[in-house]
Amino acid sequence: MRAGDSQDSKAFDSRLAVIDSHVHLDFDEFDAEREQLVARLRANGLKDAVIPGVSASQWPKLQAIAARHGFHYGLGVHPWYCTEDWQQDIENLSKLLEERGDDPKLVAIGECGLDALHKASWEAQLPCFEAQLQLAQQHELPVILHSVKAHNEVLALLKRYPLARGGVIHGFYGSMQLAQHYVDAGCYLGIGHLLLEEKAKKLQETLVKLPLEHLVIETDLALVYQLKKSQFADKTGGSGLILHLLIEKIANLQKKSNVLVSEQVFRNTLQLFDL
Ligand SMILES: [Zn+2]
Repeated sequence: MRAGDSQDSKAFDSRLAVIDSHVHLDFDEFDAEREQLVARLRANGLKDAVIPGVSASQWPKLQAIAARHGFHYGLGVHPWYCTEDWQQDIENLSKLLEERGDDPKLVAIGECGLDALHKASWEAQLPCFEAQLQLAQQHELPVILHSVKAHNEVLALLKRYPLARGGVIHGFYGSMQLAQHYVDAGCYLGIGHLLLEEKAKKLQETLVKLPLEHLVIETDLALVYQLKKSQFADKTGGSGLILHLLIEKIANLQKKSNVLVSEQVFRNTLQLFDL
């Protein structure tokens, strides 16, 4: 049977080991059903996950949840959560990184970056992002990047603060040319639920050409979306795990087998975060 054939993929989906490179499992939306959700994800092949940090006030909860479930995490200030107190947040982050430097579960700085659609925090976003790039340099950690309508600025700052461990541009949506710029800047491309949207033609075209060694996969907040609206409920057997759908889609676009794609993407994620 051809890879990507629905019956075939269903048969070996659950055997494919996957790592979620970006999932906000610490968010309050998951509080009521986190335990069952994680159990379902584990049963469906989830070997590990990286939970990115978004704000100083959320870090303690994030660390507790990561510890409880044996997942990895990042610490950072998301552009939406940059306030005029950003300097205080960065000081706290710096202190936490000093204290937590030897925590093997802490694997990245982020989620950080720039979001031009979030105008209210724009003034604070630039210096806050810069400070986090400096911390990533100092602590030799990769960055988890959020970049919306700000690719030129993000790429310029990555050039200014070269990172030994690079990073990942999460929720990537763009052309092959843009993807190449990020790859040249030392980044992996985090592919999420956008690829599963019928109308995401540009991303699909990019994925036809983009070498597999630059990709990681993620659910981000898609889990919530699915649980509430069940958009992918049938296809994921109610697990809420779209990672297998992403693997299948990438395999189809690249005319490769699901197993080959999943193994390469798995390796990329280990390498990116040094898991
Ligand atoms: Zn995120």
